[in-house]
Order: sequence, then structure tokens, then C-alpha cells
Amino acid sequence: VPETLHADFYGFQADLTPVEQDAALRLRELLEREVRPIANDYWARAEFPHQVVQPLARFGAFGAFIPEVARFENSAVYRGWAGMELGRVDASTCTFVGVQSGLAMGAIHVGGSREQREEWLPAMADGTVMGAFGLTEPLSGSDTARGLRTTARRDGDRWVLNGAKRWIGNATFSDITVVWARDVADQQVKGFLVRRGTPGFTTSKIEGKQALRIVQNADITLEDVVVPESDRLPEVHSFREVAIVLRLTRAEVAWQAIGVAVGAYEAAVRYAGEREQFGKTIAHYQIVQDRLASCLGNITACIAMCMQVSRMQDEGRQRDEHAALAKSFVTTRMREVVAWCRELLGGNGITLEHGVARYFADAEAVYSFEGTRDMNQLIVGRSITGVSAFV
Ligand code: FAD
Repeated sequence: VPETLHADFYGFQADLTPVEQDAALRLRELLEREVRPIANDYWARAEFPHQVVQPLARFGAFGAFIPEVARFENSAVYRGWAGMELGRVDASTCTFVGVQSGLAMGAIHVGGSREQREEWLPAMADGTVMGAFGLTEPLSGSDTARGLRTTARRDGDRWVLNGAKRWIGNATFSDITVVWARDVADQQVKGFLVRRGTPGFTTSKIEGKQALRIVQNADITLEDVVVPESDRLPEVHSFREVAIVLRLTRAEVAWQAIGVAVGAYEAAVRYAGEREQFGKTIAHYQIVQDRLASCLGNITACIAMCMQVSRMQDEGRQRDEHAALAKSFVTTRMREVVAWCRELLGGNGITLEHGVARYFADAEAVYSFEGTRDMNQLIVGRSITGVSAFV
């Protein structure tokens, strides 16, 4: 396992603290040992390797941003870097961690009571309780802030939920799912912890996905699901709190996208040095070198951008539009990189075994979730012009 990444051309890793650098290296080793050897196989079968959960939990992959469960003091820059390391080996594993940690634990961290935090966060950090985050619906994706249709009706000391969710990662096996629903009384969005096995709560796996195939995404139906008031997140009063959770994770998705680009780039560099055509390895040809240099330029610019966005988060001055610009810019550069790498491998670029096809396919989902490119550009556009173009 390399101590530094070849794709970290300007040596950004040195900006992490010594403790963080050590953690990044341990994570790199863990992923090479536990995830890389099985990723293509599980991806092909669209199954989730549950055996990776405990090694990731012991390492401290879940809830690193929550002081009471973090294994060591760390910065947003470190957490972003860790997301890049995960994406570099497998974007699905990175997404799984992002859902468990950033979204599900993030929702309880932002909206939960002291009792709820104590009940769930340590167990989720230990990987003994799995979480999911149910926001998107069949009829509401980009417009969940105004379009969310799932309802919550208060009935004494309990709530009754009705509606449907779509695309919910980890929900086929999660022990608790954070369900966002609109209170019929005040029309505000509220958050509920729905436990597996609650009558009326059913999940079914979305089949036939051609990206992030390891991630288990579910359609959820809620039919008169009864949730006690004690399982409502009391610090959530409106969609504002949902937006706070998403703000915590959006910059990390940009880092994940760098990881996807790095993973494809590394495979392409390797291939260029091995594949011979016209009597020489293709690394000898100018067009091939140009393509690799373009990939490295994209990756280097994106790391610099994300380092700064994460620093701004550490300093408490990151705004929505800062994370949004990073997400849209980096995912667009990622898409260029995986396409160039795919091309550089010729026909082998479309086979799993040559190491680019999985990144190429997964990039499409990373491009569209946690706010599509368009949504993030509009958030930036609103900041530039002062007018919202959403509707
Ligand atoms: P739509 O909102 O229907 O958008 C379709 C197209 O229209 C897009 O190109 C979009 O940019 C464009 N568009 C929409 N509105 C406008 C506008 N005003 N102006 C210009 N263009 C516009 N959600 C969860 O809640 N939990 C999860 O765990 C989760 N995991 C996911 C995992 C995967 C693999 C995927 C693919 C999705 C996941 N999602 C999850 C859902 C994800 O967040 C949504 O897919 C995303 O927000 C986009 O919504 P949509 O797919 O409904 O697209």
C-alpha cells in the first residue's frame, strides 16, 4: 500500500495532521485488504458485503464528525480525505458509509434528543445498528423541500405516517430509518426514527441498477405506520434541519467524486504502461500522455478546491453555495476523467476486470445524488445573482 497517492501530485496529504495522516494510511490498507479484492464480484452480483461493516466500524468510519463517538480528534479536511480514499477503492462502499454516518447519524446528531443520541449514536458508530435516511420519494426528488408528500398525523402520544420513499440507501437491511414526513397540522417537515419490523413499514430492493450496484437502495411504503412521540426527532422543526444535515454531507460527496476519478486514473496509468501497440507500450504515445495529464490536472484542481471547502467548514464559514459549487464542479470533472480513462483502455475499458468500468458506471450515480449538477449550479447561481431560478 503506497504511503502517498501518485494522484496526489502536489502532496496535499501533508496538510493533514500526523494523526489524520496515520488514519488515512490505515484506511487505505483496510480498503485494499477488505474491499478491493471483492468489489467487482459483489458489484456484479449487486449484493452488499456485510463482512466489511465491522472492520470499517473498528477503524472509526462511522460518526467521525460527532465528538462523543469519534475515535480521535479530526477535521472536515480529514473526513473529506477519508471519503476520497473510500471512493478510490469503491464508490459503493463510500456511499454505504455516507448513508450510515453522514446522513443517518447526522440526522440524529442534528435533530435528536439527548436520550436518542445516547441510545443510537454509539451503537451506530460500532456498526451494530444500521441506519438509513428516507427523504426522496417517487414523486419528489430535487424538490423535496416543497414537494415532500409523506404525511405525519399526531394521535395523542403517537404519530401515524403514510406515504412512500424511493432510492433509500441501506434501507433493505437498516435497523432504523430516519423518515422525513410533513405534519398535516402545521405543514412542516418532521423527522421520525422508524424501527425495522414496525407494522405497515415495508422495503423492497430496487433491482436492475447499473451504477453503485453494491449499495442496496429500496422503495419504501408507509401504511398507517405508528411511531411513538419518543421516536420523533424533537430538534427538527422544519426542512431547515434537513438542509443542515445535507450541508454536512455535500462537500464529502465532492471528495468521493475525486476518489472515483483517482481510482479510474490509477487503473489507466497502469494499463498504459502494460498495453503494447505498434511495438511499444501505449504510454509512449503523445495522445495517451495528454489524456493522463488532463486527468491529473482535473484531480489536482479538485483536491485543491475540496481542501479549501473543508477548511471553510472547519472554520464555520462554509455556506450552502460553497459546498454546492464543489459538488457540481468536481462531479463534472470526475465524469470527464472516467470517460478519458475508459477510452484509454480501448475495449478493455468496458470490462470489470480491467478496473475502469465500475468507476465509469458508478460516476453516473455520484453525479446525480445529493443534489444533481443542475440543482447545485442553481444554488450557486442564486448566490451570484440574488435571484432563485428553481421555480
Ligand atoms: P429529479 O428531481 O426528477 O430530476 C430529474 C432531472 O431534472 C435532473 O436532471 C434535475 O437536475 C432536473 N431538474 C429538476 N428540477 C429542476 C429545475 N428546477 N431546474 C433545472 N433542472 C431541474 N435519497 C434519499 O433520500 N436517501 C438515500 O439514501 C438516497 N440514496 C440514493 C442513492 C442512489 C444510487 C441514487 C441514484 C439516489 C439516491 N437518493 C437518495 C435520491 C437522490 O438524492 C435523488 O435521485 C436526487 O436528489 C435527484 O432526484 P430525482 O432522481 O428524483 O431527479
